[in-house]
Amino acid sequence: MLSNLLVKRARLFNKVMQCKILGQRSPVVAYLLLTDRCNMHCRYCFVDTTKKRKELSTQEWKQLIDEIFTMGCRMICLMGGEPLLHPDIEEIIGHIQSKKIICDMTTNGILVPKMINVVKKINSLMVSLDGDEVANDANRGKGSFKYALDAIKIARENGVVVRINAVMTKQSQNSLEFLLNLADKFDLYVTFAITAEFLCEDIVRAEEVTLSDGEIKNVFIKLKKLRQQGRRVLFSQAALDYVINYPLPYNKIIFQDDIEHRKFYKNKCPFGNTMFYVDANGDLYPCAALWNTDHFQPMNILKDGFQKAWDNMARLRCLTCFCPGVPEWNRIMSLRGLTDGLLVTLKQTFSRRVKNQITNNI
Ligand code: SF4
Ligand code: SF4
Repeated sequence: MLSNLLVKRARLFNKVMQCKILGQRSPVVAYLLLTDRCNMHCRYCFVDTTKKRKELSTQEWKQLIDEIFTMGCRMICLMGGEPLLHPDIEEIIGHIQSKKIICDMTTNGILVPKMINVVKKINSLMVSLDGDEVANDANRGKGSFKYALDAIKIARENGVVVRINAVMTKQSQNSLEFLLNLADKFDLYVTFAITAEFLCEDIVRAEEVTLSDGEIKNVFIKLKKLRQQGRRVLFSQAALDYVINYPLPYNKIIFQDDIEHRKFYKNKCPFGNTMFYVDANGDLYPCAALWNTDHFQPMNILKDGFQKAWDNMARLRCLTCFCPGVPEWNRIMSLRGLTDGLLVTLKQTFSRRVKNQITNNI
């Protein structure tokens, strides 16, 4: 198992370095939104989970995985909707693993206990959990806290590498310490996402949860302090500073022709260059931030073919935006970042403390 993980990481490293040295665009990291279906109804979701549209078949997903593997894909994150609702999820995971591509998954946790034998086949699990029970259930629906907690507990008991992804909203902004205490308990790390109204599918519900610019800054200043105290915030100091100092309102993108602000960030956003999203119907997007906006018109892999849809993203005019993932992924895609990521994964894989700790009450 360890050798398998090291081989996959080495292949990711090779590809990333090749792209950097040769200045190549290559689809290295893919987020596949396997289905629109979901068994939760979060207030800030950017997917219309009620949509009844034709989704890619299992065969089409497998063909896509073959194609992007040939073009350089070395890491896939399965998303949705809820990916565990896909009827052939085990077959798709098996196909990814057969190519020695790193396979991660983001889940709301509901089906994790029932499907733990499938979950054990992936390389790491991102469980969505925004805060304590009141905060989380306000964002994600009644009972969702318990589902997420049970999922984390069972996954960790079974040796799965787990991360928490917490969306910061008006309801969850005061849950930072709670989440980091949970992280200590389960020996895992937490990433924090911010939402903006334009990201959400349902604008009315989004208005009720979106933080003001001042509140967002405050959350990241607190996270910076907590990280300096050695708490398990997965972001680097540079990513936290990036968000704190972002020079525009947080819902505004910095475009390439913005002379005044383009000096804020010297690197280029990796989304659309080495990272991309495939929607359940086959539309290709650079990132989740461009889902419900006029800034980007996706092409479809079934109608246009993958290559054309991939080339379409090269025309993107944005340079960077408020998303902490921009500096963070640029850091991860470096020798230092890849080594740090491997160490975090190994630490959790071989954690001995977990079994004793999770039997205690939270
Ligand atoms: S945010 Fe995730 S869990 Fe929540 S409704 Fe959307 S897809 Fe489902
Ligand atoms: S700059 Fe922001 S909006 Fe543009 S591709 Fe990158 S993550 Fe997406």
